[in-house]
Amino acid sequence: MGTNLQLKQFDATRAASAESEVIRVEDAHKYYELGETRVHALRGVSIEICRGEFVAIMGASGSGKSTFMNILGCLDRLTSGRYLMEGIDVSKHGKNALALIRSEKLGFVFQGFNLLARTTALENTELPALYAKIDKRERRKRATDALAMVGLAERAQHFPSQMSGGQQQRVAIARALVNRPSILLADEPTGNLDSRTSVEIMEIFQNLNDKGLTIVLVTHEHDIAQFAKRVLVFRDGKIRKDDPVVNRPRANDVLKALPTLED
Ligand code: ADP
Ligand code: MG
Repeated sequence: MGTNLQLKQFDATRAASAESEVIRVEDAHKYYELGETRVHALRGVSIEICRGEFVAIMGASGSGKSTFMNILGCLDRLTSGRYLMEGIDVSKHGKNALALIRSEKLGFVFQGFNLLARTTALENTELPALYAKIDKRERRKRATDALAMVGLAERAQHFPSQMSGGQQQRVAIARALVNRPSILLADEPTGNLDSRTSVEIMEIFQNLNDKGLTIVLVTHEHDIAQFAKRVLVFRDGKIRKDDPVVNRPRANDVLKALPTLED
């Protein structure tokens, strides 16, 4: 009888984890064809990521981090293996279906902020909502909210050239949030920023994650990875380490101890 009860509990735990599982990758392989040569960029990657996780991905240059992020972001497809997002096998999806998933479920932040130069912070933020055919009023409201969330309510009418790197990256984060994604994917978002500004970006990520947003972040800086809850280390296209962060610092506390620079 004891065994039976344990089995039932086990089933219940499994059902709960299947429900909260946002990302599931099974034995993923990715080859790039380069003329005569094939590059084996992912060599059997398997991982599960649940809702509310904050995962940092580290690893040397060329270890497959960006390739993996492009897969998670439905920007590219696996050569073999499976990718399930929120339980749906997207590895079989065609281009249009993937574009829809990107628009509805995913937010992207990159190292270069990729803002349109002659376009205000508010308009830049609105863009993904425009592509998602959300009507003008709702678009404006969501973009205004998203800018407020990253602390830029006052800069809505500023152009990228009138903002610091950190502010531009915050606009890019607001833009990534405007369609209310399930997952935020960030590939080296602090790569172009000084250390204080980098921690400020991590403060925003931690706040968003506190509200339940699932985040996957690539960084090659150990200090930045420590703001996540879990760290993966890639080497030669494989996950070599997968560890929880112990004594995770709060970016907010770290900032109090850092000297202030001119913004
Ligand atoms: P990381 O982001 O960790 O630096 P990448 O995922 O960019 O690593 O690259 C992994 C491997 O795949 C490297 O050997 C790289 O040269 C190769 N690679 C990445 N993108 C392409 C591509 N579009 N075409 C051909 N090879 C690529
Ligand atoms: Mg990369």
